Amino acid sequence: MAPPLKKQHFDSTTRSPTTISTTLPNRAPTDQAGDPPVPANLPNVPLDIHFEIFRYIHPRDLIAVARSCKPLRDILLDKQLSQPTWRRALSYATMLPSAPEALPEPVMAVLLYEPTCTKCRNALPIASRVDWELKARFCASCREASVTCFPSGTKPELCCGVLAHLVVPTQFASSSGASGCYLTSEFNLAKAKVSRMSAQERTTFVSNKQRQMEDLRSYARECRKFEEAQQRERLERDKMVKVQRAKLIRERLFSLGWGEELAVLKAGDSPLEQHPVVDVPEVLTDTAWLEIRPVLEAFLQKHRATQKAKHQAHLKKASKARFESARKMEEGLKGGKENAQPQRKGKGQKGSVGGHKRNRG
Ligand SMILES: [Zn+2]
Repeated sequence: MAPPLKKQHFDSTTRSPTTISTTLPNRAPTDQAGDPPVPANLPNVPLDIHFEIFRYIHPRDLIAVARSCKPLRDILLDKQLSQPTWRRALSYATMLPSAPEALPEPVMAVLLYEPTCTKCRNALPIASRVDWELKARFCASCREASVTCFPSGTKPELCCGVLAHLVVPTQFASSSGASGCYLTSEFNLAKAKVSRMSAQERTTFVSNKQRQMEDLRSYARECRKFEEAQQRERLERDKMVKVQRAKLIRERLFSLGWGEELAVLKAGDSPLEQHPVVDVPEVLTDTAWLEIRPVLEAFLQKHRATQKAKHQAHLKKASKARFESARKMEEGLKGGKENAQPQRKGKGQKGSVGGHKRNRG
């Protein structure tokens, strides 16, 4: 059993070191086959060393660290312990101001850097958009199941004159023409809560929530701008990586003797560049090359066979055309001879007769 962490590694305001050390297993949970084991000495590493390392980690990698094993997840999802770490990482990476209360930093990091559905966790296209006010990124079916939208022109009310958008995070921009969209669970929860309040409590509640909603909306606007800039950068970066990858693949194929095929498949926009293993925004490593080489050689082999068949078909067609042309020429000559012979014969006969006649005369 690993010794408990020493007290000096903790801030006095956080939970006790003993609590944490006893929650640290020596092995990762076994619910997922193939999980890497937790390094045996991880529980012995003082927390301040962990946090010193976390200072230099990008939010994307903090998410990965938090998911790597339970001990690190416990540390990184402890708000008191880790909020400064997440805030620092996010502010360095995004230059965004600190997230408002309604949008915790780890949630914010996942929304920014992980294109997965918040509900079903399925992977989404990299260009999928976040519903920042709703603190979620949904696939189509989860959005339909989790979000309630009200028709344009309506002002949904929770209870007793309390307008929903004043106290519940609301997404206004909508291509569907809705006046406001809400997480159904948040809407129903707020509705139940407001209905139980006294008039005075409602006034205080609305006043407090209204400020939070304004902060959230303003933050969501900043996040959207950042997200759009990120998308543009990502597209540019992917484009450059793809070009470099295709160039390296061409060089390697050329050295294997596929120069003739590569000359036909001109660089730029050929079927080779569009091949699923080439048109990938990933740097070409030696390992990746070993995997894709047989696929590409099979593709080029097929291309060679197709080209050969086309060439043979072309030769056959050309030969047939030459034969046809020769045949027509021959027929033309024969026809010309046949037409010309009776004429010459007729003229000769006439001339001869006339000649004889003239000679005789
Ligand atoms: Zn989903």
